[in-house]
Amino acid sequence: MTGTAPATGLDDHEAARRLLSAGPNELPRPPRRSVLRRVGTQLGDPLVLVLIAVALITVAIGDLPDAAVVLLVIVGNTAVGVVQEVRADHAVEALDRLGAARARVRRDGSVRTVPAREVVPGDVLVVAAGDVVAADGSVLDAESLQVDEAAITGESLPVEAHRPGTAVLSGSVVTRGRGEVLVGRTGPSSAMGRIAAGLVVTRSRRTPLQRQLAVLGRRLTVAIVVVCAVVFVLGLLRGEPPVLMLVAALSLAVAAVPESLPVVVTLGLALGARRMAARHAVTRSLPAVETLGAVTLLATDKTGTLTEGRLRVAETWTAGGDLDELARAAVLCNDAPDEALGAVPTPGTDPLEAALVDWARGRVDVAAVRRAHPRLGALPFDAVRRRMTTWHEDEHGVLVVGKGAPEAVLPPGGLSGPADRARAWADDAASRGLRVLVLVTGRRSGTPAGAVEDGLDVVGVVGLRDAPRPAARDALAGCRRAGIRTVVLTGDHPGTAAVVAEQVGLAGPDGRAPRVGAPDADTAALLDADVVARCRPERKLELVTGWQERGEVVAMSGDGVNDGPALRRADIGVAMGGRGTEVARQAADLVLADDDLGTVVAAVEEGRRIHTNVRRFLAYGLAGGLAEVLVMLAGPLVGVALPLLPGQILWINLLTHGLPGVAFGTEPAEPDAMAAPPRRPGASVLAGGLWLAVLVVGAVVAAMTTAVLLLVGDPDPRSAAFLALGLAQLGVALGLRSHRPRDARPPGPDWLLVAVGGAVAAQVAAVTLGPLEELLRTTTPSPAGWAAAGIGAVVAAVTARLVARPRVTAPLHQRSTTEV
Ligand code: ADP
Ligand code: MG
Repeated sequence: MTGTAPATGLDDHEAARRLLSAGPNELPRPPRRSVLRRVGTQLGDPLVLVLIAVALITVAIGDLPDAAVVLLVIVGNTAVGVVQEVRADHAVEALDRLGAARARVRRDGSVRTVPAREVVPGDVLVVAAGDVVAADGSVLDAESLQVDEAAITGESLPVEAHRPGTAVLSGSVVTRGRGEVLVGRTGPSSAMGRIAAGLVVTRSRRTPLQRQLAVLGRRLTVAIVVVCAVVFVLGLLRGEPPVLMLVAALSLAVAAVPESLPVVVTLGLALGARRMAARHAVTRSLPAVETLGAVTLLATDKTGTLTEGRLRVAETWTAGGDLDELARAAVLCNDAPDEALGAVPTPGTDPLEAALVDWARGRVDVAAVRRAHPRLGALPFDAVRRRMTTWHEDEHGVLVVGKGAPEAVLPPGGLSGPADRARAWADDAASRGLRVLVLVTGRRSGTPAGAVEDGLDVVGVVGLRDAPRPAARDALAGCRRAGIRTVVLTGDHPGTAAVVAEQVGLAGPDGRAPRVGAPDADTAALLDADVVARCRPERKLELVTGWQERGEVVAMSGDGVNDGPALRRADIGVAMGGRGTEVARQAADLVLADDDLGTVVAAVEEGRRIHTNVRRFLAYGLAGGLAEVLVMLAGPLVGVALPLLPGQILWINLLTHGLPGVAFGTEPAEPDAMAAPPRRPGASVLAGGLWLAVLVVGAVVAAMTTAVLLLVGDPDPRSAAFLALGLAQLGVALGLRSHRPRDARPPGPDWLLVAVGGAVAAQVAAVTLGPLEELLRTTTPSPAGWAAAGIGAVVAAVTARLVARPRVTAPLHQRSTTEV
């Protein structure tokens, strides 16, 4: 691609023009469904088809009012369904945007971060260790640049250093160094795009909760159809007109089947994800939102998560007393730029190396030292070897410089030479919480071949301080309160790790000092440790797997270029949005926009709240459906063949499910939601006795309605019963509300109250307003009818509060005997 000056990059105007002509740098998405198609799908739903049949029958027998009600219900149902679906889709799309890949490009002479979808051919990509390459291109400029194409080619080969001219593919990972890449192909024509072309990306993944509810819904539907058949037969036996009974039975089926369960869950999850985003926790999928509430173990990395990630050299020790020599070694075996500042991390620069340059600047001229000793070659640092070695030109031949963890660079101990004194000093510094690094050098006559790292002499040791983050302390305390076990996984020295763990208040389950696992222990022996030091990336993966086999739901934070597999394996991979690497961000399920571990706790609270609200909605919806069925069954037994007319049943269903059902998703978390242990993984959504509570509440609502039907003595007892059934169900909604005190609720309207208020008004209108009375064939009840309906609603609300609410919010950590 021509027309790009590497030093300035494209200008904004040209970038915008190319974005239009080349298209966005993203994989093709499935087209958005039009409203018309959505309406079509809604109308194709079996329940709606039943309703349409009912409408046709009523028209055929000339029962126009009922036909009108059925039509109203169809229109209302469809509208509510489509609106819920569109809202859920929008929330998911907003999530996608928040979690989208990012890239750094040079435009108009300055480097900026843009969404990866805006990268165009001709852009200059600026990449550094931890980045995911956003498009195909060729290297313009490289500094120790290494790129791993395992994600693309599937093979993890040792990667060669990349030089100008080397081709790089989108989706590959920068494992080391920095570089600039001139973009060639983007979007579907790039390597990632070509791979993805085979697989059509559709989002039909259902969450475990949605799957559970789908199964529950199917079972209930079968049961309800059987019961409706019974209602139909009972009516016939009592000599009711067959057509009327058919319409009534079908309406009952439509009303009682909890058809809105799946979409209420989707909407609840999507709204929850939006609220999480407002609390700086970006979830990248709906299943993650749901899983968050069930997290039982949080494995966190140390540097930058529990600590500030801003290092400063605090103490030094030298073998020969020459600090300048230590400083020279520290800047030679180092990839940070001459002007690096330890306190201001730059992307692609290791904060530890920046801290070394920062410190050395006080003693030597960094640029001059580096000019005097041009680098000839390097073995880069990696988290497995824990050391780095470089070799340089020197007036006497070749100078080899290395730095790394004591056990990695020092020969096994025993003698009382400088190596042992270095080790002793390092252990002591580590036990005071410093991160320690040993520097070694050696001279060679020619270019080193083979064992470059053998026979190097200790120059000295530096101890770096990285202050603990105050917020980490609160985050760990929050986890402890919520029964979430925390474990620190770090590549650092066990001594350093133990001190930092103490500083942020990490303690064992009973408040004892944190247990630090022996670095050379088997992974199985480390599953109970509180701190795993000298932890390699593949060990992280083994630990996560081991915990999961024990039934834990694991959240893991990580940032290393090699942490991807463990982040993906964890139930919730957590990455830092600001400081974190793009690799980690793209592997994670949860991205913390504020880099604050405490945000995980907030996200878990949202997850728990959503689960509780789904249970609220279930208790409400199922008890309501059950009550409707019971009333229709009880009627013939007590001498009223048809306690409610078909239109009336449908009306109540529309009213009670439409608004309040959705509003349940907005109920705030219980005040003590984060003071209880996590729910048992895999617990049924009706566990904890909720099932039983549904039966009791449904029976009470039905009993109140039947009592009104029999006892009020109105000329039209049906209208009073109709009023009672609607109000009692709305009473149940109020009884299930969160216990959060009014002043601790978030600002803004109290949607559940608004929804219930609206529904009560509509129900009252249904028995007082002329046109509605005509449509629904109701009359205004007598004062006794009103009073009885009111009493019924209060009794229903109290029952819900006493019987169902405690079970909705009960912690589900023990196996309960009353499960589906
Ligand atoms: P962490 O879990 O704290 O991120 P790392 O894997 O980054 O741990 O580091 C582990 C150890 O490797 C450190 O304690 C240090 O001794 C050594 N080390 C870290 N960075 C470098 C580096 N750039 N060069 C050489 N050694 C390093
Ligand atoms: Mg590190």
